[in-house]
Amino acid sequence: MNIVEIIEKKRNGGKLSKEELAFWIEGVMDGGVPDYQTSALLMAIYFRGLDMEEITDLTGEMAASGDQVDLSMIPGIPVDKHSTGGVGDTTTLITGPLVAACGGRVVKMSGRGLGHTGGTIDKLEAIPGMRTALTIDQFIAQVSRIGLAVAGQSAQLAPADKILYALRDVTATTDSLGLIASSIMSKKLASGAKAIVLDVKVGSGAFMKKLDDAIALAQAMVKIGQGHGRNTRALLTNMDQPLGRAVGNAIEVVEGIEVLQGKHAESDLRKVSLMLAENMLLAAGVYPDVQSCKRALHEALASGRALEKLGEMIAAQGGDARVVQHPERLGRGACRLDVKNASGGYVSAIDTQCIGHAALLLGAGRRKKEDAIDPLAGLLMRARLGQKLAPGETLATLFASDEALLAPAQVALLSAVTLRESPVQVPPLCYGWVDEAGFHPTK
Ligand code: URA
Ligand code: CA
Repeated sequence: MNIVEIIEKKRNGGKLSKEELAFWIEGVMDGGVPDYQTSALLMAIYFRGLDMEEITDLTGEMAASGDQVDLSMIPGIPVDKHSTGGVGDTTTLITGPLVAACGGRVVKMSGRGLGHTGGTIDKLEAIPGMRTALTIDQFIAQVSRIGLAVAGQSAQLAPADKILYALRDVTATTDSLGLIASSIMSKKLASGAKAIVLDVKVGSGAFMKKLDDAIALAQAMVKIGQGHGRNTRALLTNMDQPLGRAVGNAIEVVEGIEVLQGKHAESDLRKVSLMLAENMLLAAGVYPDVQSCKRALHEALASGRALEKLGEMIAAQGGDARVVQHPERLGRGACRLDVKNASGGYVSAIDTQCIGHAALLLGAGRRKKEDAIDPLAGLLMRARLGQKLAPGETLATLFASDEALLAPAQVALLSAVTLRESPVQVPPLCYGWVDEAGFHPTK
């Protein structure tokens, strides 16, 4: 086989075989195909696209480029949950314990935050003592014992994706449906879960700003998962405002614990967490139908068993489990500022990416992979879409460890929130879900 012919074939709109895709990815890994040829092929794929069979085959090759975790030792059907990235989205800390408390086996390998989106591993590390680097044996033993582990993902998981992602970033080929779907799903396949629930975010804070694009991505990822024997489902949820009120690390853990304590009963964060948990239980076949999942989840929440499960996980990973009873122990930045809007009105738009950026300016996020973060930095949104605010009412409260960081974050926050005089329509929280049969809009 010859890489020039493969590039030429895709450039001319042809379809690549599994063998050709395998030849390319092997070449990416062993250096047989240099970056300039991979870049050319990425650009050809960007313009010509990949069909579903090519996407599924490419994902399989990328997943096979490194370690493939074998979770068959875990009893039952281990289930993973993945979000395409949001702001104030701490659902993993809520769904994981909920599903485990209902008898599910939750296997979650997570990333760190980058840019305006947060990462679960950074949030967990805001808990004193918490270990997120587990060996595969420790990971499997913990899930078998308590039903739940959340760990950082090893560098050996789909290493071909790391190389392709870096090249896509510098060749303007990031924004391709087949490349995004295969990138995300290669890591999911390699991490070994037999059931996968995807939370595909749509809106101003999401990777996908338009619903149609998000549906297409969700459908591609579900087909990839199903094509590789993983029971995969996707929810499409709104990201036109931060999901929870807290944006940051320790501050989001506090909010997640509070939801498990039964607080924020009407919050979007709780609603989305319950929807995801329900889909995880269904995908893993723990209960036969939606109604029994809902019942079990409400019982796990009301009885405090889900909160207890979070405490078990924290303790198992070396963290201070007292935080589940006393989340205020996690602390927050000593410098604070209430951001107020001079005029009043209805909150008509929130630039969620910009809110994420404000949190980054406070120290909660990183611009480059190597940057350090401040676990105590972050913000609490008071304004929500559709809400009527009086002049001078607080939009958000900022927390930082350094006074000087407050002013630039305040500027970002003020520019992110738009008010208008007349009432506004609030977008739906969940647009629907995707399973092997296709997209089912929420009624
Ligand atoms: N997340 C990924 O892991 N890969 C992409 O291509 C986009 C988002
Ligand atoms: Ca084939």
